[in-house]
Amino acid sequence: MTISLGSIADDYTGASDLANTLTRNGLRTVQTVGIPQPSLALPDVDAVVVSLKIRSVAANEAVASAMTAEAWLRQNGARHVLYKVCSTFDSTAAGNIGPVTEALAGADAKTALLVTPAFPQTGRTVYLGHLFVGEQPLNESPLKDHPLNPMHDANLVRVMQAQSIGTVGLVDLATVAAGPQAVREKLAALYAEGFTTAIADAVFERDLETLGEVALENRVSTGASGLGLGLARALARSAEVSARSGEDADVTRPVGGPAAIIAGSCSKMTLAQLAFAERSMPVLRLDPERLVKGPDEVSAAISWAGERMAAGPVVIAASAEPETVSRLQSRYGREASGHAIEAATSTITAELVARGVRRLVIAGGETSGAAVDRLAIPAFLIGPEIAPGVPVLRTIGNTQGDMLLALKSGNFGGEDFFVAALSMMR
Ligand code: ADP
Repeated sequence: MTISLGSIADDYTGASDLANTLTRNGLRTVQTVGIPQPSLALPDVDAVVVSLKIRSVAANEAVASAMTAEAWLRQNGARHVLYKVCSTFDSTAAGNIGPVTEALAGADAKTALLVTPAFPQTGRTVYLGHLFVGEQPLNESPLKDHPLNPMHDANLVRVMQAQSIGTVGLVDLATVAAGPQAVREKLAALYAEGFTTAIADAVFERDLETLGEVALENRVSTGASGLGLGLARALARSAEVSARSGEDADVTRPVGGPAAIIAGSCSKMTLAQLAFAERSMPVLRLDPERLVKGPDEVSAAISWAGERMAAGPVVIAASAEPETVSRLQSRYGREASGHAIEAATSTITAELVARGVRRLVIAGGETSGAAVDRLAIPAFLIGPEIAPGVPVLRTIGNTQGDMLLALKSGNFGGEDFFVAALSMMR
């Protein structure tokens, strides 16, 4: 297998989002869970996104994992590697966007490396280095209150500089609007002046197409799914990848077996989706207090599902209204209760798969990550989109046999998401 584009994603749901964008823009894409084992046989694909969990770990740990992932991608033919970060540039002065970008760049970069989290279709735009989330500058958006990495400065040149050893420059919108050659010249000029990386402005999709074309000529770039879109379109225009829709019927070939929906997200949309599903499927509402206290609630849920799943899809939800969540958090602590519930939903998921479930929908970013880790699924092939940003996934190299999954973070999808997902997963 020789891949045209490699990517290292700093978290799992970000990896899915990118893999979905690459697929929608013409690249057959695989998302691996962690760094692939040498024994993993991947199908013939254009792009591989290696999902890591390195957004909030110590910088040296993030760098070490990213370098190992990079080595795997290069060995498998990737000439360009995109370091996929969050479109709200989630990081601190300690990293990890700066340290990982600089480590991947290595010593032989001949130009300043492009960095942009812009993704206009989700409201992330960058102008004169300042990131806007919808109509708000980053530092006035809800990201100012993020529990792990509060973003207090919208000026990404400053934010990136604080976590970099080299000097960070700017490729402004006027240059980007002038086209690829202008951007190339600007990056070379910045490099000659001693800049090693540059935040690039982008307000429209065409800006990302320009940036993608130039980024592809270098070994490394850093950005969100927006830059992925630019890179994918540049590759699809080149002769390097054969023209195709990016998805194929193979991905959704029926797997049969029972279906289950597991929800750990407490977002407003997930709660509405559960209420909608209740009209047509059996829904078990777990008792969060009992989940945290011991294994009885988990065993009861497994038996409940076991009695029903031959007859049709079953839904099991830890999800609760904000008052219930905060009551539990004040009693057991925010992290401890979250982790205890993730462990419980993962155990339920693994037990249902052991009992034959092959079609699985999971609601919640952390909930999905924990479950996929527990199932030890090595990789996914990306299929058609169920709702914006949420594709059908087909497992690759899964010891339990082929499965179809949909992993949905928080507010994604409409009210009918669960029903819509299962209608595409046979
Ligand atoms: P989202 O994508 O909506 O952020 P996540 O799965 O990432 O969803 O996060 C939801 C978190 O809430 C998880 O840690 C989950 O274990 C936890 N959780 C689920 N149900 C409850 C509950 N009833 N009370 C407290 N925490 C809960």
